[in-house]
Amino acid sequence: MSRSRHSYNGRIRHSSKERGASDSFRCVNCKRMVSSAAAGTGHRNHCPTCLWSKHVDVSSGDRNSSCHGKMEPISVWVKSNAEWALVHRCTACGTLKSNRIAGDDNEFALMSLAARAIAMPPFPLDA
Ligand SMILES: [Zn+2]
Ligand SMILES: [Zn+2]
Repeated sequence: MSRSRHSYNGRIRHSSKERGASDSFRCVNCKRMVSSAAAGTGHRNHCPTCLWSKHVDVSSGDRNSSCHGKMEPISVWVKSNAEWALVHRCTACGTLKSNRIAGDDNEFALMSLAARAIAMPPFPLDA
């Protein structure tokens, strides 16, 4: 549906930070191959199937971290505009990061993550 041909001449999508944007990576958790070109985000950094990520960035997309630990999705952050973001925690160094969800992220995985706190209250609900 998009008529990209008209504005395509000479405009190369490029930013200095996007050097590796077209590569793919193997998920640290479920081992699937993940294309880093994703719907709704410039640089995919988490697996659309299990939502795990890898600690490679200091700030988003820069690939400057030498940690390379597995990052577990621990929560859903609902921003003020109702946009969802994932909160990842590095299992190696404990760093917390937020990442926008992508259009092809697994809805069931997102919902079960969002429901986890509700499903496991640390106090009785029948008081
Ligand atoms: Zn995965
Ligand atoms: Zn780390």
